[in-house]
Amino acid sequence: MKAISVLGSTGSIGTQTLEIVQDFPDQFRVVALTAGRNLPLLVEQIQRHSPEVVALADDSLLKGLEERLNSLPADQQPQRQPELVGGPGGLNVAASWDTADLVVTGIVGCAGLLPTLAAIRAGKDLALANKETLIAAGPVVLPELKKSGSRLLPADSEHSAIFQCLQGTPWADNARLSTGVPTPGLRRIQLTASGGAFRDWAAADLEKASVADATSHPNWSMGRKITVDSASLMNKGLEVIEAHYLFGLDYDHIEIVIHPQSIIHSMIELADSSVLAQLGWPDMKLPILYCMSWPSRLETPWRRLNLTEVGQLTFNEPDPAKYPCMQLAYAAGRAGGTMPAVLNAANEEAVAQFLEERIHFLDIPDLIETVCERHQSDRTDQPQLDDVLAVDQWARIAVREQVDRGTRRLPLTAMAA
Ligand code: NDP
Repeated sequence: MKAISVLGSTGSIGTQTLEIVQDFPDQFRVVALTAGRNLPLLVEQIQRHSPEVVALADDSLLKGLEERLNSLPADQQPQRQPELVGGPGGLNVAASWDTADLVVTGIVGCAGLLPTLAAIRAGKDLALANKETLIAAGPVVLPELKKSGSRLLPADSEHSAIFQCLQGTPWADNARLSTGVPTPGLRRIQLTASGGAFRDWAAADLEKASVADATSHPNWSMGRKITVDSASLMNKGLEVIEAHYLFGLDYDHIEIVIHPQSIIHSMIELADSSVLAQLGWPDMKLPILYCMSWPSRLETPWRRLNLTEVGQLTFNEPDPAKYPCMQLAYAAGRAGGTMPAVLNAANEEAVAQFLEERIHFLDIPDLIETVCERHQSDRTDQPQLDDVLAVDQWARIAVREQVDRGTRRLPLTAMAA
């Protein structure tokens, strides 16, 4: 029985991970949960899974959680009372919990960085969904992995596809995963992208994109931030950087292809020109399960892929003019050092501002570009953790200041008035 810790248990990745635990009660048990603010759902999860430890990001909410648990009727109490911890230190305690075999990282954004590092330093294997951590701090995370021997198993569907394809090659050296060393025999990666909410929109119409438009994904059901990232294709840009760190390929050999059906989850080209792909319905439970069961595979009753039902698989090149975030991510990845951390933080803040309807969808790339340009001369090549945390804070403040000064376009609320 594998013991699982779920960081970000109340989110999209977290809840799907817990559904898998419920589907396979003989295979997995939950030892640690962490959440942000969603206490009602967290209490349900504690009742159902009886974890050993529970952490809340904001320790001022701990008392409320304790009260909710104490007020449960006797017949609805969890089997054990978990240890409750809070704040950044509490998240680290849960992430490095002694009895865990695998830590699923489903916290959104760079807030996942310190708990992820805590899990790595404790020698835990990780199912990495929280890509922002690796993007912001690849140069910090990779040496830590080497030191501790932890393995970073990709839960992102595209990187899981690449990982799964590589398992069938003579170079399936999992010790090499996320060492930054190029995987031998791997010539090219093609990351597939659904094209997000605006794939059928003309570039000119993006001026009118609302929060509701940007948060309705055609194929995947995900958290709000990543859904907006998918609409701008920043998500795919971030995945390019993630693939660079996971599989060691340079940026000229990591490509993006729009594949609206989201059936092929990514492809690899090998040294002999053979191309391998992994296919399936768009459902995050499959890549999460693979991380949890790896190196084995578990039998599931899930809906089986029927290509005749799909009919057509189509592919086209993404339009760089329509998706400037994609180019910004490539540029930041190539610049390396602290630049991806600045790109990531500027994007997180700009998306948050967009979700609050303070800026327009098209302001997102403008803000990121401005902040990345300002960081050019301060970029550090071989950043330490403190450098990453410092530029992360700086970039967020820089975006907020720019928004306060005013962006090129009027916010949607002002347009509606
Ligand atoms: P959600 O927004 O659905 O969930 C985020 C989780 O993180 C929630 O549990 C939330 O708690 C918690 N959280 C939010 N802020 C903080 C914080 N400051 N400190 C600690 N915990 C916090 O996100 P997703 O599940 O969609 O995404 C999670 C990660 O997985 C992201 O990095 C995303 O890029 C990646 N990913 C997601 C996919 C998906 O299908 N959803 C696919 C591939 C990757 P609460 O809700 O209680 O406030």
